[in-house]
Amino acid sequence: CVVAVSASSSPATAAVATEVPGVMKAWVYDAYGDAGVLKLDEAAAVPAVGEDQVLVKVVAAALNPVDAKRRAGKFQATDSPLPTVPGYDLSGVVVKVGSQVKKLKEGDEVYGMVSENPLQGPKQSGSLAEYTAVEEKLLALKPKGLDFAQAASLPLAVETANEGLERAGISAGKSVLILGGAGGVGSLAIQLAKHVYGASKVAATASTKKIELLKSLGADVAIDYTKENLEELPDKYDIVFDGVGQGDKAVKVVKEGGSVVVLTGAVSPPGFRFVVTSNGSVLEKLNPYLESGKLKPLIDPEGPFSFSQVVEAFSYLETGRATGKVVISPI
Ligand code: NDP
Repeated sequence: CVVAVSASSSPATAAVATEVPGVMKAWVYDAYGDAGVLKLDEAAAVPAVGEDQVLVKVVAAALNPVDAKRRAGKFQATDSPLPTVPGYDLSGVVVKVGSQVKKLKEGDEVYGMVSENPLQGPKQSGSLAEYTAVEEKLLALKPKGLDFAQAASLPLAVETANEGLERAGISAGKSVLILGGAGGVGSLAIQLAKHVYGASKVAATASTKKIELLKSLGADVAIDYTKENLEELPDKYDIVFDGVGQGDKAVKVVKEGGSVVVLTGAVSPPGFRFVVTSNGSVLEKLNPYLESGKLKPLIDPEGPFSFSQVVEAFSYLETGRATGKVVISPI
């Protein structure tokens, strides 16, 4: 089933019409569980496009821990109904626009996170598919100079890193400690703090083999958590950004009056937790830094995984040892 997007039947316009099929390949699960519930559907329905949405031909996607937690049923009270096509992060090409879409047009190369809130009613049809429908406001033009795999690695992680730092009151001259500096979020939080917000000192934690990586991302102090105890660190920080789930330890290394932002796990005062909101304007704001190379995507060297290897990619992500982002490309 092939549907021509153009309403015109004249040969001149038919030649430039974007053809969108009625069915597509998509990874899907119809029950919660481990990575084994994921199945490749060769004839999934291409999502309908709402008036404020665009249809994106997905070129690359990335996995996040929330994809695995959602698939395991951790958020089922607020999840969309099954079956689910997972995936929040994407890059791709706009192939169709809704009637109220203002800026984007067919042919635009875009990237973004498909659901405004990843936990509260996320989209049933996500990015691990050939096509997905996304609100225009959640997308931005792909940064010039980045390929699709690099762009897809960014949205959820960089928006989380940025929102967390902003909520914690980041500004030039502050000192920041990032727990989990080699992960998808942490690797971007280090770069944002140091190269975008002008932190005076950035410290970050990882295991022994990843210490040099932390320094290359911009960390002034790289802490090997297998050798050093957080509670015994010589310095305290204005902001502690916990990307690991160590809220109890994080509050012991913050300065009096400082902020502790926690992404996962238990929170004790003065720590606070938040859930990222997808927002294309944040990506637009960061595009110049991505284009100048001040902010660099970090793709785990085990990847990119091919579209047929999504189960393997999930299993790898779920080891909790990924360096930067687990990317699926091409789709
Ligand atoms: P990743 O899977 O990318 O994190 C993997 C990294 O974590 C590895 O490089 C590993 O390094 C590091 N790590 C594991 N344990 C420790 C430790 N004890 N100390 C320091 N580093 C450690 O995850 P993300 O960065 O994508 O996400 C991090 C967490 O934040 C997840 O729980 C995720 O669900 C959550 N999250 C929450 C969001 C929100 O809105 N609240 C948004 C995004 C993420 P090593 O191998 O050296 O241990």
